[in-house]
Amino acid sequence: MALIVQKYGGTSVGSVERIQSVAKRVRETVQGGNTVVVVVSAMGKTTDGLVGLAKQISPNPSRREMDMLLSTGEQVSIALMSMALQEMGQPAISLTGAQVGIVTEAEYSLARILEIKTERMQRHLEQGKVIVVAGFQGISSIDELEITTLGRGGSDTSAVALAAALKANLCEIYTDVPGILTTDPRLVPQAKLMDEITCDEMLELASLGAKVLHPRSVEIAKNYGIPLVVRSSWTDDPGTKVVSPIPKPRPLVGLEITKAVDAVEFDTDQAKVALLRVPDRPGIAARLFGEIARQNVNVDLIIQSIHEGNSNDIAFTVVKNALLKAEAVAEAIAPALRSHPANDREAEVIVEKQMAKISIAGAGMIGRPGIAAQMFKALSAANVNIEMISTSEVKVSCTIAPDDCDRAIQALCEVFEVEDSPVCANNIAIGFAAAQGAIASSNAPPVRGVALDINQAQIAIRHVPDRPGLAAQIFGVLAQKISASIQLFNPNAVVLSTIIPPAILPLLSHKPMQK
Ligand code: ASP
Ligand code: MG
Repeated sequence: MALIVQKYGGTSVGSVERIQSVAKRVRETVQGGNTVVVVVSAMGKTTDGLVGLAKQISPNPSRREMDMLLSTGEQVSIALMSMALQEMGQPAISLTGAQVGIVTEAEYSLARILEIKTERMQRHLEQGKVIVVAGFQGISSIDELEITTLGRGGSDTSAVALAAALKANLCEIYTDVPGILTTDPRLVPQAKLMDEITCDEMLELASLGAKVLHPRSVEIAKNYGIPLVVRSSWTDDPGTKVVSPIPKPRPLVGLEITKAVDAVEFDTDQAKVALLRVPDRPGIAARLFGEIARQNVNVDLIIQSIHEGNSNDIAFTVVKNALLKAEAVAEAIAPALRSHPANDREAEVIVEKQMAKISIAGAGMIGRPGIAAQMFKALSAANVNIEMISTSEVKVSCTIAPDDCDRAIQALCEVFEVEDSPVCANNIAIGFAAAQGAIASSNAPPVRGVALDINQAQIAIRHVPDRPGLAAQIFGVLAQKISASIQLFNPNAVVLSTIIPPAILPLLSHKPMQK
C-alpha cells in the first residue's frame, strides 16, 4: 500500500464540478489500495481576488493581515473537497496548516517550513480517512501562534514538504497543463511535453520563470529524494516525472532551512579569454562562440558585462590546453569587431593563462541570496580575490587565482559544513564536446527547455575595485535588504551587476558604495 500526496491547483478545484471530479480521482486512488493526503489551493483566482480587495483598502497592507486574508482561500477549498469526498462515501477530514502543525519561520508572506508534525495526520490515516490539507499556509510558533503563508504558488511546496514529512511514496502535482513543457506553449505552440526532467533542470527552469512548480517544492524534492510527478487533473495521462539522485539522509527538522550547499567543487585547470569592448549588438556572441565551437573547444563559464557606452566585455573560460586555440579564434575575430566606427577602437583580447574555478553546489541558491553572500564573505575572509562569478539555482561558481584554491576550498568547506572531500570538477564538467558525446549516446537534446521571465530588473554598480571583499560587501547588503531572489551577472574591476525582481528596486538605497 502506497502513501500518496496529491496536490490540486486553483483551476483544478475552480468550480463545484471540478471539486467533484477531483474528489472522484482521490476516491479512485484510495480504492486502488493507497492512502491519500490531498493538498489544495484556493479555488480559481480566489487569491488574486483577495489581493485585489486588500489593495482597495490599503496600498500597502500589513503583511500579517495579508497572510490572515490570503490563507482563507485554501480554507474554503479544503472544506468543500472534504464534503465532496464524504458525499461519495469516502471518509475525509479537512485540516488547516495550523491544525496539521505545519510550523514555519515567523516571517509573514514568504515563510519557510521548519517542521511538519505528523502525529495527528497519522491518526486520521489509520482511521482510513483522506486528509485534505490547506496548501500555502502554516503557523509560526515562536511567541504566539501566527498564521503565515509560504509565498504565491506555495501550495506545491506544502505538498512536497508533507510528502517528505510523511515519507510518502509519491507526490503528484495536478495542474491545468499536461506536465512540464519544453517552453511556454502560449508563446511557442510547438512546445513539447517532457516525460522526465531532473530536479536540477527543473530548478533552473523554475527560477527562470517556468510557472509550473514553485521552485522551493523542487528544492525539497531534491533534498529528500521525493518521487514527484506533474500531471493534468483533466486526463489520465502520466505527465512529467521530476527525478533526482538519491540524496544523503537529512533531518526533517529545519526542513526548508537545512543546508543549501551540499558540495564544494573545484577545477584548477582553467584559463580565461576576455574580449573587451565588443559592440553591443546582436550576433557578436554567436559569431565568437560559433567559431569556438567549430574549433571543438569546450567553453565553461561565459560572462558578458555591460560597459560604458555601447560596448560589452565578453569573458569565458576554457581548459588550459585549449587556450591557444581559443585565443587564436578571439584574436582573429577581434579586428572585425569595431564598437565605435568613429574612433576605430578595436576589440581587445586579454588572456589569463591559469586560473581556478571554485563552486558551491546544492539547491535554492537564487532563492536564498544569503548563500552567495556567505560564500563571498568566506572567500574574502580567506583573502581570496574573486574574478568572475556565475550563479544559478543549483550552483555559484567563482574564478580565482590558482594559488588561492586550497585556501578557498578550506574556507568554503568550513562555512558550509561540507565534510566530504571537495569534488574535482574536471571529472564532472560537461563542455560542448563532452555534451555532444553524451547526447550521441543518450539521444537527449542538449537544450531541454527554455524559460522566459519578463519580471526582472537589473542594477549595475560601476567602478567596483578589484580586490577581496567587495563582492561580499555588496552581496551582504543585498541579501540583508531583500530576502527575494538576486541573480548575479558579473563582477569585475568595472561593473558588478545583478538581476532582481523589480518590486524590490525601491528598497535599495542609492548611496554610493564605499571604495
Ligand atoms: N493560492 C495561492 C496562490 O494563488 C497558493 C497556490 O495556489 O499555490 O498563490
Ligand atoms: Mg501553482
